[in-house]
Amino acid sequence: MPTGRPRRRPGSRTGCFAVLDPATGEVFDEAPDQRPKALDAVVERAHASWRGWRADAPARTAALLAAADAAEAAGADLATLLTREQGKPLSESHAEVARVAARLRYFATLHPGPQPLTDGRPVRSEVRWRPLGPVAAIVPWNFPLQLASAKFAPALAAGNTVVLKPSPFTPLATRMLGSVLSAALPEGVLTIVTGREPLGARLASHPGVRHVTFTGSVRTGRTVAAGAAASLARVTLELGGNDAAVLLDDVDVERIADRLFWAAFRNCGQVCVAVKRVYAPARLHSQVVEALAHRARTAVVGSGLDPLSQLGPVNNAPQLARVERCTARALADGARAAAGGHRLDGPGYFFAPTVLTDVPPGSPVVTGEQFGPVLPVLPYESLDEAVEAANATGYGLGGSVWGTDLDRAGAVADRLECGTVWINHHGELSLAQPFAGTKESGVGVAGGPWSLYGNLRPFVVHRPEEA
Ligand code: NAD
Repeated sequence: MPTGRPRRRPGSRTGCFAVLDPATGEVFDEAPDQRPKALDAVVERAHASWRGWRADAPARTAALLAAADAAEAAGADLATLLTREQGKPLSESHAEVARVAARLRYFATLHPGPQPLTDGRPVRSEVRWRPLGPVAAIVPWNFPLQLASAKFAPALAAGNTVVLKPSPFTPLATRMLGSVLSAALPEGVLTIVTGREPLGARLASHPGVRHVTFTGSVRTGRTVAAGAAASLARVTLELGGNDAAVLLDDVDVERIADRLFWAAFRNCGQVCVAVKRVYAPARLHSQVVEALAHRARTAVVGSGLDPLSQLGPVNNAPQLARVERCTARALADGARAAAGGHRLDGPGYFFAPTVLTDVPPGSPVVTGEQFGPVLPVLPYESLDEAVEAANATGYGLGGSVWGTDLDRAGAVADRLECGTVWINHHGELSLAQPFAGTKESGVGVAGGPWSLYGNLRPFVVHRPEEA
């Protein structure tokens, strides 16, 4: 099995790195391995294009709407390539492309107008907004297109230009999207750069960049923030999560089991806001374990290109190794696999959907982010104990409460320390909502108008009431 970070392979052209199909573990294409030095010209061009792009809001709206149409028209090709390099079922790739188009349309027509200020004095003051300049966007491999659009759609709508770097595990669909959108956008307004580290580190610390917006792990997020400190660029970080689902004692287990299962296992568990821990009342614990384990045993795992597959492979070898490590550690600590617990035989990075019980609360699969198809189910005696355990990690991205009495569930939702809490479902995000991790899950607010303001800076114009 290939291991380690994306690398040059015998057969890759000079200046390129290999891209693997996670369903086979084989190389199927390559992408340009741009060197950090190349960013100077790219950022300079983004700066030069900014002048025209920022000046004409109606033209921006028209271009972003045309970009949405172009993404949609290329939907089938984009989705197939995305599944090929990322592994997810084709239906999920189609949904991801649709989300790109929807997001472009949403932001195309969102315009921040001037906001009058009143503080009782006879002065008319209003807040107006200016774009920041070239934005550096860095994204991971779990939702390459969706997360790219979450960066570039609001940044472009606000009048900035963007240099975007996808993960070297999934560079191809993003490159294709960049080329598709270039038919609608002026040159230099959106540039996709691909390459292995230190390309991202250089982009985050580039002196010509005015906003660094990053999605990825907490560890890399810290490095990115430190890099951006050199130029005092604005920093937005959307980082990891360890979302807890708290089941209340009036929950109807059979009724919610499908929803709960897919909230944990969609995209093979590689979702920042996947359910990563379940807390079940002790009385219902074995019923919950069995309901989830049954679904894990019967879920169809296979290549994302096969229309029957419900779960694809883990995206890459290092991530598969991490999932194997944390599962093995939990089993060694005394946990029991009610379903799965191991890699699947054969080529590709497939891991059996796994439900763990009897997991010690301090096990890394509970305290950390497994980011794979492995779900621990933990029993609790009192609700206070469950809420305390749910909040007892450094993460604070999402969480959910499941039960029949919605007022009671709502009261428990108030006690979860995270940016989004769902009741009786988990993971759905509105384009219009603020998406803001608390604690180590993020810095800044993304989503809806908040994303737009995150890409703008206010300035104030004062004038006396009477001229
Ligand atoms: P990662 O942090 O390893 O990589 C993210 C991106 O940063 C990639 O493009 C990578 O090439 C780049 N990178 C790596 N080292 C860098 C450096 N020193 N400087 C600048 N860039 C660098 O994360 P990953 O493994 O690709 O993604 C999984 C993580 O992303 C999980 O923790 C997941 O929860 C998180 N995530 C968060 C959200 C969110 O919205 N909060 C969404 C999706 C994924």
